[in-house]
Amino acid sequence: MRKLRVVAILLLVSLTAGACLQKMNKKNDSNIRIKERTSPNLIVILADDLGYGDVGFNGCKDIPTPNIDRIASQGVKFTNGYVSYAVCGPSRAGLITGRYQDQFGFSRNPLFTPNDPEMGLPLTEETLAEALKKTDYKSIALGKWHLGAHESLKPLERGFDDFYGFLTGGHHYFPEKWVLQDEFEVKSQYDAYKTKLLRNSKRVEETEYLTDALSREAVQYIDKYKDSSFFMYLAYNAPHTPLQATEKYLNRFDTIQNKKRRTYAAMVSAVDDGVGRVLEQLEALKLTEKTIVVFLSDNGGPEPHNGSDNGELRGMKSDLFEGGIRVPFAMQWPGTIPSGMVYNKPVISLDIFGTIINQTKKTIKTKNKIDGVDLMPFLLGENKEAPHDYLFWRKYDEQIYAARNASGGKFVVKDQDTMLFNLDNDISETENLIRNSKNKLDSLEQVFNMWNLGNMDPVFMGLIHNKKYNELNPDRFEKLESKNN
Ligand code: CA
Repeated sequence: MRKLRVVAILLLVSLTAGACLQKMNKKNDSNIRIKERTSPNLIVILADDLGYGDVGFNGCKDIPTPNIDRIASQGVKFTNGYVSYAVCGPSRAGLITGRYQDQFGFSRNPLFTPNDPEMGLPLTEETLAEALKKTDYKSIALGKWHLGAHESLKPLERGFDDFYGFLTGGHHYFPEKWVLQDEFEVKSQYDAYKTKLLRNSKRVEETEYLTDALSREAVQYIDKYKDSSFFMYLAYNAPHTPLQATEKYLNRFDTIQNKKRRTYAAMVSAVDDGVGRVLEQLEALKLTEKTIVVFLSDNGGPEPHNGSDNGELRGMKSDLFEGGIRVPFAMQWPGTIPSGMVYNKPVISLDIFGTIINQTKKTIKTKNKIDGVDLMPFLLGENKEAPHDYLFWRKYDEQIYAARNASGGKFVVKDQDTMLFNLDNDISETENLIRNSKNKLDSLEQVFNMWNLGNMDPVFMGLIHNKKYNELNPDRFEKLESKNN
């Protein structure tokens, strides 16, 4: 009897210990992941005005994008990948801060105003480069900046160690068109497309087609920083207008009859080549498994302007229908994220910030509360919930609003017309369900209104105020002496 009791006690002890161990192991599993944090590199490859349907991994037929597709096949393709705004500037402000840009009044495309310290990303905001500087990262910005042209707002003032590119919202692609020495030779908003490129704060004589030059720089900077952790923000302006491509790329698309589409295809192909060069450089330097690579577009394609194609999505750049905000979006981290994954729950560009700051060896405390979340637990199956219960969009000047939930419900308010869609079975937003689903609308609107309470009015005039800004600031492009001099 006594023997039996001892056996029973022993059994109980071992069972309890087993359960405890199991619990500890589970805890340890996550601890192991934390311990193994290696401060991976991050390369964000941002295309400009690329349509949802214009990459192979989203079904594009006439423009091969084998290298961009490789990111999706070596990692995860996000089918419901969003940006936080439907045009360039605010979308970039969201991505680089991990916050909805409406929260700090960046709700318009900024003007090119080199004397205006208010025109761009407010200094209250912390960029991803600044956050990563708190640990052991080097950061490089390449290509289009668009977050301010004033001295205090340039990339090197915002946490980046290196910059090669241009400050405004677009640029000519051929070096012979870069005739202006600096920003003070600019005489109008779109003159800025003609400035010589900047390397850090110096103007340079570049001789390559712009997309190729940016790819070359990316490859070189990866080599330069191969021994440290780095963040590379590779912001191609392609395939944003003006539509300009070299024969090398145009020759690949002899079969496309439409001239606009053909040039667009050539520009996308140049970006794809660049992505290939970046991935090959990572391979050559044995950095592939140490590097998270994200590819996305800053907004949907403006179809009639650049010949892009948003596939089955309704609307285009500037719309809060899916065609304006749902973008090609893929991420690889071989050895950590399983290859060939398709993730269907909604994610947003703000999550890039949320993800990387949770992978660094040293914990980073951000200056502001960010809206992006760490996607890793979701991609590794540790968390089966949706990363976001809701996503929000606001176009302040036009009073257009949208919100969606994780189960496909989306509302759009435009021209005082309120629409409700179920994206899960109507990705093209063809059927307005508002009459039959008043309750769903009410709850989405309520959540949106709560979110909107935390937003600010725009803090600077935008592209639409170009004329008015010129009237108020006749010295807009004059080189003013610094107040400190
Ligand atoms: Ca854009």
